[in-house]
Amino acid sequence: MLGIGTWGMGEHPGNAASETAAIHRALDLGMSVVDTAEMYGDGAAEELVGKALAARRNEAFLVTKVLPHHATLRGTIAACEGSLRRLGTDSIDLYILHWRGAVPLAETLEAFEYLQQAGKIRHWGVSNFDVADLQELRLLPGAEGMVADQVLYNLTRRGIEFDLLPQCVGKGIPVMAYSPLEQGRMLKDPVLLRIAAEHGTSPAQIALAWVLRQPLVLAIPKASSPQHVQECHRSLNVQLTPSNLADLDRAYPPPTRKGVLEMI
Ligand code: NAP
Repeated sequence: MLGIGTWGMGEHPGNAASETAAIHRALDLGMSVVDTAEMYGDGAAEELVGKALAARRNEAFLVTKVLPHHATLRGTIAACEGSLRRLGTDSIDLYILHWRGAVPLAETLEAFEYLQQAGKIRHWGVSNFDVADLQELRLLPGAEGMVADQVLYNLTRRGIEFDLLPQCVGKGIPVMAYSPLEQGRMLKDPVLLRIAAEHGTSPAQIALAWVLRQPLVLAIPKASSPQHVQECHRSLNVQLTPSNLADLDRAYPPPTRKGVLEMI
């Protein structure tokens, strides 16, 4: 249930060796979900991922995303071809609509079905879809093919716990938690630091263990060095106690009413 994100990778040639080594370490550790998008660095992240996976494609579950303004029938197919080229592969494991735009969902679904039948994508999913978006999607023919909703979720952004998360879990739809470390901003939090000290781990591991405490939730932290990847992986061994969870609830209370789905 732990993968690796790649937003920001591929943008500085000087970081390429470390970023590539990070992806390799993730694969070594069985963190096979590699998440990228055509948007990241205007294709630069996909190119880096493609090079990193060149000899290890079969070890990865490769996820990439189409931008909403490309998500027409023809546009999605063209965007997918571009992603396949940059990724150096002939098939994407999970192709996601990055967020909802002006293109009717039915048209994007038609493109996803075409790409699936053509063997260019294995599965499709959505991102930044709230309950109402999923309800609308479910009314469309072919919607049962949707396999994941990728949304912002971490200790400081718990809005989805009100309804989206229980609904997805109830329907067996995996939730991919993006920015599970709040892009690093939460890592100096005193409560996290104290719980990390108690477990002899780091705040990042506590933050990830908290996201991963529930079934069907997958986390895709972006870690651009093998050391950070290794550290993220250790979160799988952290067992938060009821008292830890209560302290975290006090510091970051769960939602008590419906709010707007947050995005980064
Ligand atoms: P994030 O994973 O919450 O945080 C990344 C930051 O945490 C980086 O600065 C990273 O530093 C640091 N970090 C990673 N491991 C660490 C560790 N063990 N100890 C200390 N710091 C650590 O942020 P994110 O990149 O926004 O989200 C993750 C992924 O989700 C993205 O890369 C992308 O693939 C996806 N995403 C999707 C959407 C969407 O709309 N669907 C939106 C945002 C993100 P280093 O880079 O130095 O390792």
